[in-house]
Amino acid sequence: MTESASQGRRNPSAKGAARTVASAVPAAVVARLAKGVTASGEDVVETVAPLTGEALAALPVSGTADVERAFAEARRAQPGWAALSVRHRAGVLLRFHDLLLRRQDEVLDLIQAETGKARLHAFEEVMAVASAARHYGRAAASYLRDRRRGGAVPGLTSAVEARRPKGVVGQISPWNYPLELSVGDALPALVAGNAVVNKPDTQTALTALWARELFVEAGLPPQVWQIVLGDGPVVGPQVVERADYVAFTGSTRTGREVARRAAERLVGASLELGGKNAMLVLSDADLDKAAAGAVRACFSSAGQLCISIERLYVHRSVADAFLAKFAEKTSALRLGGGLAYGADMGSLVSGRQLETVTRHVDEAVKAGATVVAGGQARPDLGPLFFEPTILDGVTPDMAVCAEETFGPVVSIYRFDTEDEAVAAANATPYGLNSSVWTKDTGRGRRVAARLRTGTVNVNEAYAAAYGSVASPMGGMGDSGLGRRHGAEGILRYTEAQTIAVQRLLPIGPSMGLDDRKFAELFTTGLKVMKAFRLK
Ligand code: NAD
Repeated sequence: MTESASQGRRNPSAKGAARTVASAVPAAVVARLAKGVTASGEDVVETVAPLTGEALAALPVSGTADVERAFAEARRAQPGWAALSVRHRAGVLLRFHDLLLRRQDEVLDLIQAETGKARLHAFEEVMAVASAARHYGRAAASYLRDRRRGGAVPGLTSAVEARRPKGVVGQISPWNYPLELSVGDALPALVAGNAVVNKPDTQTALTALWARELFVEAGLPPQVWQIVLGDGPVVGPQVVERADYVAFTGSTRTGREVARRAAERLVGASLELGGKNAMLVLSDADLDKAAAGAVRACFSSAGQLCISIERLYVHRSVADAFLAKFAEKTSALRLGGGLAYGADMGSLVSGRQLETVTRHVDEAVKAGATVVAGGQARPDLGPLFFEPTILDGVTPDMAVCAEETFGPVVSIYRFDTEDEAVAAANATPYGLNSSVWTKDTGRGRRVAARLRTGTVNVNEAYAAAYGSVASPMGGMGDSGLGRRHGAEGILRYTEAQTIAVQRLLPIGPSMGLDDRKFAELFTTGLKVMKAFRLK
């Protein structure tokens, strides 16, 4: 792509396209990383770089015996890893954090090469993973420590709640945030004493393999984190069938299937799924900030972000002014495919994504929607570029209205009352993320409390809630089950175990008491405990 290729178009390309995918990700690096896959056969799968369409990697495919071996090795290594102190394991996370910051350029190249996203959006992954590594590195000992609980009979019974690792966690991750969604969820699993068998999406496996290498450099025993690769519907179920717990991130459709398989085996699963996220611009919002926020909310990673905004509700009194600012900023975004900072948006990841985005936009326009900005594919920039797009006049019969597009497309809707806006935002089976813009943060919090989404950002797009790694993040409704981050994000990878010790007297008739006398005595005891607030 050259700069002149886009001159005169609404979205000029960014400078800095000098480094090529081939020079940034040489064959020797691919070959080294590929050795990290647990695979023994001859089968390989080839990936291409979305930015240019050129060949990127040939990666080995794991057969059933390889998945079996990955679990066997992980299972052998896990008890030794769990026997180390939490502080020792946490030290690995903290060293990983430092290495990641120091070597970030390597992984930024890989993420861009594998996903096609702009470097700034790739850096969001480094930010998220570094924050989570520091958080769990510092807080794991506190999350996992034994906790004294009130015993059955105060004074006679002492109880301690302990946390034990689940064993081997099966982790299945998608392509859109390959560093964050392979490492981010592995961090708490590992520090809690589990081993991990990860099946990343093949398209973005190099990023996951690089991260694993860095973890080993930080002190992780290599067998504790296994990576298997292959076709999702083939290898994915093989992982679910063997795991002691499943951490799945991906579409709602696949998530349901994973949940069914996990339920059959009576193993737990956390499911981070799709969304159709809404942003509300209230009448008193700062429109410049809201418009800039909407650009981040809708077009980061070309909208291929589970928490990005695809429905934008604006108070009628400010709708025209907001839309003018938002459209201007959107049309000024620089699309670019360079492996360098400078572009505001990169390309989509695959032909499948381009097909969905194109279909949603074209169908909507044919049915009467208006294109306020963007609206077209940009093959002049690369095979999978699509302009950041704003649609107006979208109606419920259009697929773009309710289905997840997972691309750089947002629809504008107007509202008159707060109740109307809240009801419209909640009128979806999904419940992942939302965003509210107002100068009155108290009002923002009150509106947030009425929204049925796992995270709500007031005066920010998504990064405020997602980046608050001490707080849980995840979806309500069809957006998933369970949470990453915070206490829930680590305790999901543990089994609670209560150890209670009884002293002096048993909890039953003793010392010559018959059953009736015991019942009377215990009844009196319960009343006394109530009076003294011991129970
Ligand atoms: P997907 O469900 O097609 O694939 C996700 C992963 O599951 C991949 O590794 C895939 O190979 C694997 N897989 C496919 N079939 C499987 C099966 N039958 N059993 C087990 N595993 C299987 O999703 P995708 O298109 O790769 O990712 C995009 C979706 O992920 C979007 O819907 C997006 O909203 C969602 N997502 C959610 C979050 C979140 O945190 N909630 C984050 C990122 C992406």
